[in-house]
Amino acid sequence: MSRTIGFRLAAWYALIFVLSALALFTLAYFLLSNALKEHDHEAIESEVQRYRTLEQSGGRAALLAAAQAQRKETMFVRVAGPQNETLFAHMPAGWDDFQWKQLESRAATQEREWIFLLGQLEGQLLEDPDTLEILSARLGDGSVVQVGRSTEMRGDILEYFQGVFALVTVAVLGVGLAGGVFWARRSLRPVRELSRGLREIRETSRIEARVPTRQTGDELDELTGQLNTLLETIESLVGRMRGALDDVAHDLRTPLTRLRGAAEIALRSNADAEASRQALAECLEQAEQMLVMLNAMMDVAEAEAGTMKLEREPVDVRALVESTVALYEHVAEEEGVTIRTDVGEGLTVRADGKRLRQAVANLLDNSLKYNRRGGEVRIEARRDGEQVVITVKDTGVGIAAEELPRIWDRLYRGEAGSAQRGLGLGLSLVRAVAVAHKGWVDAQSAPGNGSTFRMGLPVGSEGYPA
Ligand code: ADP
Repeated sequence: MSRTIGFRLAAWYALIFVLSALALFTLAYFLLSNALKEHDHEAIESEVQRYRTLEQSGGRAALLAAAQAQRKETMFVRVAGPQNETLFAHMPAGWDDFQWKQLESRAATQEREWIFLLGQLEGQLLEDPDTLEILSARLGDGSVVQVGRSTEMRGDILEYFQGVFALVTVAVLGVGLAGGVFWARRSLRPVRELSRGLREIRETSRIEARVPTRQTGDELDELTGQLNTLLETIESLVGRMRGALDDVAHDLRTPLTRLRGAAEIALRSNADAEASRQALAECLEQAEQMLVMLNAMMDVAEAEAGTMKLEREPVDVRALVESTVALYEHVAEEEGVTIRTDVGEGLTVRADGKRLRQAVANLLDNSLKYNRRGGEVRIEARRDGEQVVITVKDTGVGIAAEELPRIWDRLYRGEAGSAQRGLGLGLSLVRAVAVAHKGWVDAQSAPGNGSTFRMGLPVGSEGYPA
């Protein structure tokens, strides 16, 4: 629980609430206590001023009369003679802690001074005592008037204030925590929904399911969108891999069935040596076909991992193209497609001949496979600066624009591809070979009007111009 974001948010929320309340309180307490103190002092000052005026107008008699009339007020009054001898003193009821007699033993006030008496009990200072704040002033006739107030009332007010604050803090803490929990839960609800959605998908293995978005356009909605896109990518990848696995199984079944058939027949009949040899040759051929297929898959894997090993040698491009075309002449004839080549003489690249031939063969194979009867394939190679560009152009079905960027992906099979047998590995291998040679590939197509595939290879240090 304490590790959840919700809890931490709520805790921070409450903490900030309480800290702000504390800061506010400290400030208010300080201001209030100052204001109260000032108020008391002003009251004392004005009282002293009153006595001074009375004394000026009516002499000591008026002064004493006024002091005696003050008995009911919550003010301490003492009038003393010039030698500090008490003429009159009044201590309000309940202020017995203050021993005003101490004032008599002090040196007489000359002008005016503040005197602070601390509360006492039987000569002992009280614990946390109140203070009697006294303003002592000498009047014109030499007598001294002392007016004082206890801090008890101020203390009471401040204490009350503290009590109220403690209550408010508890309330604020409660509100802060409740608010924090509420907001944290509310703002994290989409995260929980997302998490629940993903857990459901994982538990039911339904990768075609999506987490619903709330259409608010906020960050969490965006995250959900990203996750859904990721799920889509995974789904399509898994789909392609399933399809590829099916294709591999399908493609392996035919040669394996033939292989088994040949072996069975050879074993069952009392075949002579010649027939056995023929059966073995058939087995070999089928095994070879399977190997080619598996090799292609491994080659692509290797090339994509960047670990394809190249056996570089100077390769005569014209000879390579011609020998590859020769291999496919038979197929082209069957498909009713004409192959034309246009390769300059003496065009050489430093490359892995076997792999390059494989790449050209794959391009040629596709251009025949996805062509139409009476169509044409043009293979050209020419030098362009420091590279050789091989172009294979067909007049076939073409490739839709949205498919174009994906045809190079491993195991991707386009719309045209699904009608034909294949593994979706051909073009990946072409690209892998080009990349391993530090070259490039690209494809252009006008759907219905054929496609053009290009492969560029750096001529390499042993490359010779045409
Ligand atoms: P495969 O041919 O085994 O399906 P490839 O990797 O060779 O796999 O090609 C991938 C996809 O690209 C094909 O399924 C096909 O849809 C498309 N394609 C490739 N070459 C051509 C072409 N010359 N004309 C039209 N479509 C092509």
